[in-house]
Amino acid sequence: MTPEKRSWNMGRIRSKDTKPEKTVRSLLHKLGYRFRIHRKDLPGKPDIVMPKFKTVIFVHGCFWHRHKGCKYAYNPKSRQEFWKEKFQGNIKRDKKKRYELERLGWKVLIIWECQLKDLTIVQNKIESSLYNQNNGQQNASVDTKKPRR
Ligand SMILES: [Zn+2]
Repeated sequence: MTPEKRSWNMGRIRSKDTKPEKTVRSLLHKLGYRFRIHRKDLPGKPDIVMPKFKTVIFVHGCFWHRHKGCKYAYNPKSRQEFWKEKFQGNIKRDKKKRYELERLGWKVLIIWECQLKDLTIVQNKIESSLYNQNNGQQNASVDTKKPRR
């Protein structure tokens, strides 16, 4: 682990994963979207829920949730078995949550922590997901006009 990576990681730990989530929430707020947080009645208690768009957003740490191809999702050199199990558990849980939410008709959007460096990209990602209906699900309130934010 390079010092740069270590300090990045420590930063994540210290902030208890709340800061990236806050960043996304304040971005949505600024854009005028309404949302709810940590709805306990939904599988996996999604970080952000946008009922109007039937969309949930998870803000994932790249390291813990194994962002594919991301430099922050490196493999620790020590205790490899421990980490392998840990990561596999996380990936499995994430998949299960996603599956359960999709079965309930929710669209699941993952924002990776490393993407928060450029909020324009995050905004595009969120908006294209919210207004893109080509996932086979119908959402009548969205196709005709841009909903009131
Ligand atoms: Zn990443």
